[in-house]
Amino acid sequence: LMSIKNVRKRFGDLEVLKNVHMDIDKGDVVVILGPSGSGKTTFLRCLNFLERADAGEMDFAGMEIDLSHPSKKEIATVRQKTAFVFQGYNLFANKTVLENVTLGLVTGRGMKRQEAEELAKKALEKVGMADRLDYYPAQLSGGQQQRVGIARAIAVRPDVILFDEPTSALDPELVGEVLKVMRDLANDGTTMIVVTHEMKFARDVASHVIFMDGGVIVEEGTSEEIFEHPQEERTKKFLHRVL
Ligand code: ATP
Repeated sequence: LMSIKNVRKRFGDLEVLKNVHMDIDKGDVVVILGPSGSGKTTFLRCLNFLERADAGEMDFAGMEIDLSHPSKKEIATVRQKTAFVFQGYNLFANKTVLENVTLGLVTGRGMKRQEAEELAKKALEKVGMADRLDYYPAQLSGGQQQRVGIARAIAVRPDVILFDEPTSALDPELVGEVLKVMRDLANDGTTMIVVTHEMKFARDVASHVIFMDGGVIVEEGTSEEIFEHPQEERTKKFLHRVL
């Protein structure tokens, strides 16, 4: 579905991504783990051009994209076929739940309002927010806001959803309801790339785990390979610290 090679990115003197790659097939759940500052979020943001990579190639939707010099059309296509779930939800504060999910369908995809609202309602039902259509973000808990953020992502029916630490901003007691929605999506065959610190989720749900440290992929494999039989010392140490 998507193949990424040789991604490099630096911020000034700091080399954040040194040579990162990733392959993802339809239905895969790729989980990216690693200590704080290892470059996970930056990598994810480079994939849909929220951040511009210094180098890298992406093979996606029949295009071979130079991640450092994408054309406008390539950017538009990638954004059309992917969706991004942010750590801080990024909902419009002055728009209702329904409007937040409908907006991208109308402005981004040129859909008629009525059709968009129907899709939005379906997506909100999936995340258990169908009874809050007219609420504003400030009237919702963080967990509910993030579920709306996820509904907004699934409503556009992307080929792949990118999750950037979707539960990191939440109070601990609200993490579970968001992870539950993500598990349901994974079980439905949704293709997902997930940056997270939630080890149980990674262990249970990932079809492929990438462990990053210092801007490189230290080790990758199935959930079982990484969690039960890590080969690299750095992976072992990290897991020992967080498990
Ligand atoms: P965390 O788990 O804490 O979110 P991460 O693995 O996602 O960490 P990144 O957010 O990708 O790490 O950041 C990698 C490094 O790049 C960090 O040292 C960070 O301070 C730095 N960095 C990220 N964005 C910028 C930026 N816009 N300008 C300068 N430095 C940045």
